[in-house]
Amino acid sequence: MKTVALILSFALALASTPCGAVKKRVALTFDDGPHIKFTKQILDVLDKYGVKATFFVIGENAERYPELVKSEYEAGHEIGNHTYSHRRLGSVDRAIMLDEIKKTDDIIYGITGKYPILFRPPEGRTSSELEADVFAKSKKTVLWTIDTRDWAHNPLADIVRTVKTNVKNGSIILFHDYITPYSETPDALEKLIPYLTENGYEFVTVSELLTNN
Ligand SMILES: [Zn+2]
Repeated sequence: MKTVALILSFALALASTPCGAVKKRVALTFDDGPHIKFTKQILDVLDKYGVKATFFVIGENAERYPELVKSEYEAGHEIGNHTYSHRRLGSVDRAIMLDEIKKTDDIIYGITGKYPILFRPPEGRTSSELEADVFAKSKKTVLWTIDTRDWAHNPLADIVRTVKTNVKNGSIILFHDYITPYSETPDALEKLIPYLTENGYEFVTVSELLTNN
């Protein structure tokens, strides 16, 4: 968490324009996919508004639906690593987490030809040791600043309100593209993307948010 906060404050400091005004940027992120139905719906909404986002995929779902990971990548979205089978630090040890990360890196590389830079630990459970291991692999651990709780079937109006109430420059918003049996997320995006655009936000990938471009 500390690492993320540090990286974020650095990115925000750099995001100032020469005249001193701060560009407002936000990163939409989608975890646990790909999902045969909802990933496609989300990709369609993002495409409709020309928005780039970041998908933290699970290795075994990427193996099942490689064409969806390919669609995400080819549409210009960033692909991050979310472990092979959503193992959580604490329920398994660090060595297993690292094995899950490596396996998923290789699957993503096999589909896109590119190793992911970003890693998001399931449930945000990390430790300074795991973060150091991830850093040693030239990767960055990324959590989030706003949890929409879409995964818990938070009602549509609540998802929208959570984002509207908490969004600010540099927000990393947590959504999920893999939810069963139904998902409010595509509809929430249909409401939130126009709102955020009207309020001066620019949509960037997480790596873009963490660097100055
Ligand atoms: Zn997850």
